[in-house]
Amino acid sequence: MDMDKLVSLCKRRGFIFPSSEIYGGINGFWDYGPLGVELKRNIKDAWWRDNIHLRDDMVGLDCSIIMNPKVWEASGHVGGFSDPMVDCKDCKGRFRADQITVICLHSEEHAPAIRSAQHYWFSAMGSELDVEESNAKDFKKALAKIGPGSEGPTRTIFSPINQWVNQPEYKLFPCPTCKKQGTLTEPRAFNLMFQTNVGAVADEASKAYLRPETAQGIFANFKNVVDTGRVKIPFGIAQVGKSFRNEITPRNFIFRSREFEQMEIEFFCHPSEAAHWYKYWRDTRFQWYVTHGLGSEKLRLRDHDPDELAFYSTATADIEYAFPFGVSELEGIAHRGDYDLSQHQKFSGKDLSYFDEERKERFLPHVIEPSAGADRATLAFLCEAYNEDEVGGESRTVLKFHPRFAPIKAAVFPLVKKDGMPELADKLYRDLKRQFNVFYDEKGAIGRRYRRQDEAGTPFCITVDGQTLTDGTVTFRDRDSCRQWRVASSGAVQALRELLEGQPVPSAG
Ligand code: ATP
Repeated sequence: MDMDKLVSLCKRRGFIFPSSEIYGGINGFWDYGPLGVELKRNIKDAWWRDNIHLRDDMVGLDCSIIMNPKVWEASGHVGGFSDPMVDCKDCKGRFRADQITVICLHSEEHAPAIRSAQHYWFSAMGSELDVEESNAKDFKKALAKIGPGSEGPTRTIFSPINQWVNQPEYKLFPCPTCKKQGTLTEPRAFNLMFQTNVGAVADEASKAYLRPETAQGIFANFKNVVDTGRVKIPFGIAQVGKSFRNEITPRNFIFRSREFEQMEIEFFCHPSEAAHWYKYWRDTRFQWYVTHGLGSEKLRLRDHDPDELAFYSTATADIEYAFPFGVSELEGIAHRGDYDLSQHQKFSGKDLSYFDEERKERFLPHVIEPSAGADRATLAFLCEAYNEDEVGGESRTVLKFHPRFAPIKAAVFPLVKKDGMPELADKLYRDLKRQFNVFYDEKGAIGRRYRRQDEAGTPFCITVDGQTLTDGTVTFRDRDSCRQWRVASSGAVQALRELLEGQPVPSAG
C-alpha cells in the first residue's frame, strides 16, 4: 500500500489534516477531522471498554498534563529522557544519530578500507531497517565491487552513526540530506520534554513540563487510588490522554508526532506473580489487535534482547506492525519491577508500600505496563483497512474497518428524491440515529453514494427504493462483499445491531 495515497485519502475525506494548515502547518502536529475523530474515539472507547469496564480488576484515571516537576525528576525524565541529536553545519538538516545507520562494507582489515571512504555507504533510516532506495542501489553496486574475489573476505556492518563518534571515520560520513562530508556535528543529548512556565514569572522556579507519557500520573496517584478502598492487588490503573515529546525528527504521518495520545495501563501485583502477569498482558494485548483485524502476517510480537532492556526491566516485548514505511512499534509491554514506585517513594518521602490483607505482608508492588499509542493504533487500522478493488468492472477504494471502529455505522439513502422516498428514508435515519452514528445522503447516483461510503469505511448502506413503497422492506448493502438483501424497514434497527455485533451477512440468492 502506498502511504501517499492513504495520506491524501485521509485529507480528502476528513480523517486527518496537517495542524494549522492555513498558516503552512507545523511539523509534527496533526488534527483529526470529522471522520478521523470518530475513528480514533472508537478505538479509545473499545480499549477502555475492554480493559476497564469488562474487567473486575481495573480502574481508570484522568490526570493533569502539567504536574509538579519533581515527578519528572523521580521518573528519570529530567536527567535521561533524551535522544542523540546531530546537525548538518552546511544544510542545517537535523537527525537522530541513532537513526542514521552506517552500512560498512569492508574486508577483515577494515580500517584502511573504510578510511579510503569508498567502502562505506550509509542511509538515513527510521528505527526500521529500510535502506533508502538510492542508497540501496549504491549498496548493491558496492557489494558487487568489493565482493569475494576483489579484496578477500568481506563483512557488512550496520551500526548507528553515534557508535562511530570517537572514530576517525566519523568525519567522513556524509550528511544524509546534502551528502557533503565532514559537516555533521557530534551528537548532543536533546531532552524530549517540552518546557513551560507556570505563573507570571518565567524563571527556574516556575519551570514545568508537558508530560511525555501518561504513566507517571498513575504512579503519582497510586496511594490515592489504593486509599479509596475500591481496589485490591492484583489490580490495574488505566489512563488515556495526550502526551508531548519534542521529537527531533517527527515523521511517517501520525506515527511519530510531537503531540499524541497514549492508552496506558499500570498493573500492580505481588512480586512473586509479576512474571505471570507480564506474560498475561503481553498475550492479551497482542490478541486485542488480532481481534480487531490486524491478525495478518503484518503483526508480530517481539521480545527485547537482554541488551535492549532498560536497567530496571526484566522483560519487555513490543507489538509491531508492518507499516508501509517499515516494521515499527505499536505498543510496548514492560515488566518494570518496583522501579517507579520506589523512585517516587524516594523523591516524595511518602510511603507507597501496599499492605496485603490476605498475605499479611507489606511490600512495594511490581508493575506490568502495557503502553499503547492511540494515533499509532489509528494509523495501523487505517493501513490495514485500506483496499483498492473492483466492483462490477469499476475500481473503488474501500476502508474495511472493524465495525466497532467504523466512524459511520450505516448510511441511509432514498433511491430517488421523489415518490415519498426521502420522507421514509429520513424517518429510518432518525430511528437509527438514536442508537448509532449514521449518515443521510440523497445526492447523486446511488453507485456514487455507495462508493463514497466505501471510502469512509461505512460497513452498511440502507436504501429506501420502489419496493419499500409496496412491501415496507429496504435494501441492505454490505461494504466488503457489496452483497445486497432486503430487510423489513421496521426491523432495520435490530438488523443493523446484529450485523455490527458480528452476525454474518446473508449469503447470496
Ligand atoms: P519510539 O521508540 O518509537 O520512539 P518509545 O519506545 O519511545 O517509541 P514509549 O515511550 O514506549 O515509546 O511509548 C509508548 C507508546 O506511545 C508507543 O508504543 C507508541 O505507540 C506511543 N508513542 C510514543 N512516542 C510517540 C510519538 N512520538 N508519536 C506517536 N505515538 C508515540
